[in-house]
Amino acid sequence: MPIDVNTLIAHDMSDDCPSCRAMEFVELALLPAASAWEMRNELPRFSMAMHGAAGLLGAMMEEGVARGDIESALSNLLDDIEQQISEDDIMGGPPQGTA
Ligand SMILES: [Zn+2]
Repeated sequence: MPIDVNTLIAHDMSDDCPSCRAMEFVELALLPAASAWEMRNELPRFSMAMHGAAGLLGAMMEEGVARGDIESALSNLLDDIEQQISEDDIMGGPPQGTA
């Protein structure tokens, strides 16, 4: 069955929206793990983010998904994230932990 990247990035407006669940997993599990791996292995900060993202997307290309489809879907996701960041800035930035 062909992979449709647009369905991968769509929100279905349900409580268990697959896109929202995936985003939450990235934030709670993947980002902290990548960051810890960088520190432990003395890798530049965010090197895991870049190579991890590229490697995961490359796996989709190996499955036959067109690079252009991946790039445009990724561009849409980055647009959403960029908008979220500017909204956070207006609200005074992301919450700062003080504990
Ligand atoms: Zn969603």
